[in-house]
Amino acid sequence: MGDRAGRQGRGPIVGLVVAALVAAGCMAGGVDQGGPQQPAPPRSAQPESQTTRADGTTSVAEFKQDIEDAVRLAERYWAQQFRASGQRFTPIRRVVAYSREGEVACAGQALPRNNAVYCSAGDFIAYDVNWSVAAFRQIGDAFLFYLLGHEYAHGMQVRLGIRYNFTIQQELQADCMAGAYLGDSVRSGALELEDGDLEEFREGLLAVGDDPDQPWFAEGSHGTAEQRSDSFFRGYEKSLGACGLG
Ligand SMILES: [Zn+2]
Repeated sequence: MGDRAGRQGRGPIVGLVVAALVAAGCMAGGVDQGGPQQPAPPRSAQPESQTTRADGTTSVAEFKQDIEDAVRLAERYWAQQFRASGQRFTPIRRVVAYSREGEVACAGQALPRNNAVYCSAGDFIAYDVNWSVAAFRQIGDAFLFYLLGHEYAHGMQVRLGIRYNFTIQQELQADCMAGAYLGDSVRSGALELEDGDLEEFREGLLAVGDDPDQPWFAEGSHGTAEQRSDSFFRGYEKSLGACGLG
């Protein structure tokens, strides 16, 4: 996806910008809406005829295209998983961009800037477009595929009735599911990675890791950079079976 040539100046700002994702948490509106208790879908994926491939420009047009591609790819992936296990699939209702605090609300709570969330109350994904474009420019297009994959995974957890006791378990599983969606998509030919994309995933996961001082059981904990990378790449390499699904 990403061509890293010519991308420069990736300084400490990367960590600052992206760390905000963690601070605000990325699942809003509770996780207990909808989603009957269902067995997890199996790991098999159908080969895809259409291949998604983004290039390495950093324009806003390219950003929008990458977001659309990532959502479409996730939708197709999860539709296949659900159908393969005989379950009805409903896509996440919509994906909303916002640029001001309070512009979008989830279950009556205004979404803050510098964040991306899955809102279970409205079954939508919302992201601060300025923050996301900044991360896209600093880390690369692969980061958007990870980010959307992670939020999309939260919607799938709700559909599957998965609710862990601790936020960190819910989050690390979403990272694993995002990894599985991307790894399986690469293996099926639906997604083509370019040189540097794996490194972009790594870099993105490092940037979204919790502060090492944060207790793992704290509300809003997502996991350290190492835990998040481990989960993501476990899913990426071994598919959904490695995420407690399938
Ligand atoms: Zn999350």
